[in-house]
Amino acid sequence: MKWQTSGSILAAQLAIEHGWAINLGGGFHHASQLKAEGFCLLADISLIIKYLWKYRNPDLKFMIIDLDAHQGNGYAIDKSILLSKERDQIYIFDLYNKDIFPNNAFAKLAINEHIEISSDIQDDEYITLLKKNLACAFNEYKPDLIIYNAGTDVLNGDPLGNMNLTITGVIDRDQIVFEHAKTNNIPIVMLTR
Ligand SMILES: [Zn+2]
Repeated sequence: MKWQTSGSILAAQLAIEHGWAINLGGGFHHASQLKAEGFCLLADISLIIKYLWKYRNPDLKFMIIDLDAHQGNGYAIDKSILLSKERDQIYIFDLYNKDIFPNNAFAKLAINEHIEISSDIQDDEYITLLKKNLACAFNEYKPDLIIYNAGTDVLNGDPLGNMNLTITGVIDRDQIVFEHAKTNNIPIVMLTR
């Protein structure tokens, strides 16, 4: 997990330099700087942000797009304890299954674009919701880097995500996020755990 966390920070820097990068790990979205949770030891998403603020530019703005089946409570809690100027530099887009862990009401307050879905959602409805809400998010906010948490536990048969997307649905999902990054000319780092 330490190597994966370093990978997330390295991939974020490569994304800024080259337009995009993928870490074949990371995305520990249940961990906050305060505690580990839900199989997540280290808060790599918050660490990307803090590292880039410290070593690159304190004014950088981030959009976290979290399409893992679970709500991303860790980085949301980290955002909520920042000063208000820094809070405004993090936009959270979170689309998750409301019927599963962690259902954290406090963390939800830090989400900007908040989409709760049910376990039985199918590809077509999911993709329509994603497209509509991503368009709203990019109208509202122009980040300097997109941090895409691309958990594949939305796939049909995953015992923890408890959702129904097909492999084609997951590929379409990732493609839509990358298309938005490209159209808006914003670098993107994808985390894949
Ligand atoms: Zn998950």
